[in-house]
Amino acid sequence: MADFLIGLSEEDATFLARVMIGFVVCLGAIIGSFLNVCIYRIPMELSVSRPRSHCFSCGKTIPWYHNIPVLTWFILRGKCSNCKAPSSFRYPAIEALTAILFLAVFQMWGNPALFGLNPLSVPELIPFFWLFVASTVVNVMIDIDHRILLDRISLGGTLFTFAVSTAFPILHGCTLWYDGLLTSFYGALAGFGIGFAIAFMGERIFLQDAFGFGDVKWMMLFGAIFGWQGLLWILLMSSFIGLLMGAGVLLYNRIKGLADEQAVAIPFGPALGTAALLWLFWSRVILKTCIALRDWVLMHEQGFLMGFIPVLLLMSGWLIFRIRMIRKYNRELMEASEDEVTESRPTAEANVEQETPHA
Ligand SMILES: [Zn+2]
Repeated sequence: MADFLIGLSEEDATFLARVMIGFVVCLGAIIGSFLNVCIYRIPMELSVSRPRSHCFSCGKTIPWYHNIPVLTWFILRGKCSNCKAPSSFRYPAIEALTAILFLAVFQMWGNPALFGLNPLSVPELIPFFWLFVASTVVNVMIDIDHRILLDRISLGGTLFTFAVSTAFPILHGCTLWYDGLLTSFYGALAGFGIGFAIAFMGERIFLQDAFGFGDVKWMMLFGAIFGWQGLLWILLMSSFIGLLMGAGVLLYNRIKGLADEQAVAIPFGPALGTAALLWLFWSRVILKTCIALRDWVLMHEQGFLMGFIPVLLLMSGWLIFRIRMIRKYNRELMEASEDEVTESRPTAEANVEQETPHA
């Protein structure tokens, strides 16, 4: 039990833990509500604090009693109380997701009966990881909407992580401040270097910014937080998640009878962010599984090869198919843009106008 709790009975500690969980969930939902504002306003370079939230349809300021995270959306059945304009399910979903992530961080580095029974217990890192999950949600959503990853998250976050690593070297399992700082620094360097190499090769293979410079800078932040081992796993996992997402969008387009063009422009940020969150919460389990898997492979070498080689062939076939499709699409796009430089402009503007947000 944490020092300040000595003297509390087990019953009182359990009660206090429940109160704290309720508090953390509420905090997460409120922060999630603020993240919705950030996701909408930051790319448009609007202030996140003023004006107060208002309906996009009728412009009416939303009163505080209609601005309760998650609950309001369900009570008003996803409509504005004034003009009945529908509001996206995305808003309560992001509030709920943030609440869950906040609780997961609190339980992982804190609670189990308020720190005492938790072997990991590093409560001083909880606010840092709260910031990290919140910034990841914002970056993923803005990347989906605008294909931008924010510099203030990747560059600002990296500098902030250096400071945190110096003050709390325990972030990297170190005890001395300069060990923490150096681990963080080398991780950031690895993230930037590996990311840059991938972006460079991607441009050659895909003839486009498949893996943009925004992704490179975000990988630098992951390296600063998780060190180079975490970074490599995040990279591996994110390419796998990216492939699955690409396959999902292709399948969806086929079913809906849409053209495949949209599938080409899938941003990579969601895959990177998902992989980073998986590593944040599951790194111990993942490492254990990897070691167990390695032992199993060493024991059953032939069985492993028989199972793994077809999977590998299937995956490389799919990858080559995707690369050829994207190259073909980009070549057509380039030829088209050479032909009709002036004609393409009005359609682009029409697209922007169609995307009226609803909230
Ligand atoms: Zn309204």
